[in-house]
Parts: sequence; structure tokens; C-alpha cells
Amino acid sequence: MKEGLRRISTEMAEKVRQEGDAVGDPMIRIVDVWKEYNHKGTDMPALRGTHVEIRTGDIVALFGKSGSGKSTLFNLIAGLDRPTRGHIEVAGQDLESLGEKGRTMLRRVRLGFVFQFFNLLPTLTAFENVFLSLELSDQADSHVARAALKEVGLEGKESRYPHELSGGEQQRVAIARAIVKRPSIILADEPTGNLDTVTGNHILDLLTTRCRDTRTTLVMATHTPLTCRYANRILRMVDGQIIEETSCEELVH
Ligand code: ADP
Ligand code: MG
Repeated sequence: MKEGLRRISTEMAEKVRQEGDAVGDPMIRIVDVWKEYNHKGTDMPALRGTHVEIRTGDIVALFGKSGSGKSTLFNLIAGLDRPTRGHIEVAGQDLESLGEKGRTMLRRVRLGFVFQFFNLLPTLTAFENVFLSLELSDQADSHVARAALKEVGLEGKESRYPHELSGGEQQRVAIARAIVKRPSIILADEPTGNLDTVTGNHILDLLTTRCRDTRTTLVMATHTPLTCRYANRILRMVDGQIIEETSCEELVH
């Protein structure tokens, strides 16, 4: 019975996932989005009327100095916070009209996250961190969790706790946790910010190759120009606005 129920919910999740996922379709639409944080009684704009359209299968590097608003934008796309004004659509859904519960479901089923400081749960093993992501998206299957860890090169390290893994290995667990539920979008906020260059390049290679192979939309926030080599769209963010689409050559020189 339980198995049957699980299969039905998996089928439903699959159906939800496939809607609107044709390559080239808009996956993220940001229209005139503002976000103001109140600091000591004064409203400080972190996003100032930004626009962008990201399509299914895009591999985007979002460049901007610290404080330019990258993480704020990610929090809004993930529905963890709401804009002061403006319109956001993710996978064809208007985040405002989805409501809190709808945004939580969308986040669990269709979004994967990779962070600078990995954000693994310290009391769970590598396997449990990945398995939890499947449970939350109604796809609990231990074989799938193990396969994801194998795919990121962590076979044999499933029962280690985060503190028993190197930074690069922890980021691999975070990638496994994100990809395992086959999300439509992965948001990676400074994914190599806490890694040395060689490890960081391995991580970027792993993440971008996997997203290309599965046509997963990937948005990476970064201030490291080398990240652009792994992306096929490069956007530049300055003072709360995405100001231009640029090229790797322009960025590095
Ligand atoms: P980035 O990720 O590009 O470094 P952030 O989105 O974190 O930039 O920050 C953009 C601006 O918003 C910064 O000036 C930052 O200080 C401010 N900010 C971010 N989060 C908050 C918050 N929770 N409360 C107040 N100000 C914030
Ligand atoms: Mg940030």
C-alpha cells in the first residue's frame, strides 16, 4: 500500500516536472523586481527594478561584486522571500499567486540548491542528507540516493558525516542532494567560494556537465571570472540590477 502510494506521488511529481520543461521555454522570468530591506528604520534597496529571462537548459553565470544582490535574487526565485514589488515566474508559475504552501512544494520538487558553505545537515550522514532531499520531494528511494552519491564520486563514503569529509567532498554531497530529485532548476550561490581553484574547477565541471546532460537549468552566482568558462550565458549584476549580458572574453580581460 505504502509502496503503491509512493509510486503514485512519484508519477505526479514526474508530471509536474515535465510541464514546461522544453528546451528554450522560459524557466525563470523576473520582471521589474525590487527588494528593499529595512535597516534601522530606513528602506535600503538590494534589488532595484531588475529584469531577466532564463530559459530551460540555460547554464548561467551571474556575476556581481559582493553586495550587488545575487543572494537576494536567489532567495526570491526560491520563494524563500518575497519581492517588495515586481513579478517572478518559475517554471511557468507566478510565485505570488502560488502562496506559501505552493512555493514550498515548488521549491521541494523543482529546485535544487548548492551553497558556498555546503549547508549539509551536520547530524546526518552523506547518504541521509541526500535521502532527505528525496523524501521531501516524495521520491524516497535509497538506491537512487546511493546512485547519486556514486555519480559525484563518493561511493564508499555514504556513511560519513559532513565533518568527516573535505570541503570538495561536502560540496559533492550538496550536488548529489540537489541533482538526486531531478529538479528543473539548480541555484548555486558561490558554489566554489570556499574551495581551492583545482577543487572548484572539478566541482564546476561536475555540476555543469550533469546539468547539460539532463537539460537542467543552472544559475550560478559568482564573483570568480573563471566560472564563465563553464556557462553558456553570462549576466552581470551591479547595484541590484542585471545590467548586461556579456562574454567570457570581456569578463576576463
Ligand atoms: P550578494 O549576494 O551579491 O553579495 P546580497 O544579496 O547578499 O548580495 O546583498 C545585497 C544587499 O542587501 C547588500 O547591501 C546587503 O547588505 C543587503 N542585505 C542582504 N540581506 C539582507 C537582510 N536580510 N537585511 C538587510 N539587508 C540585507
Ligand atoms: Mg551572496
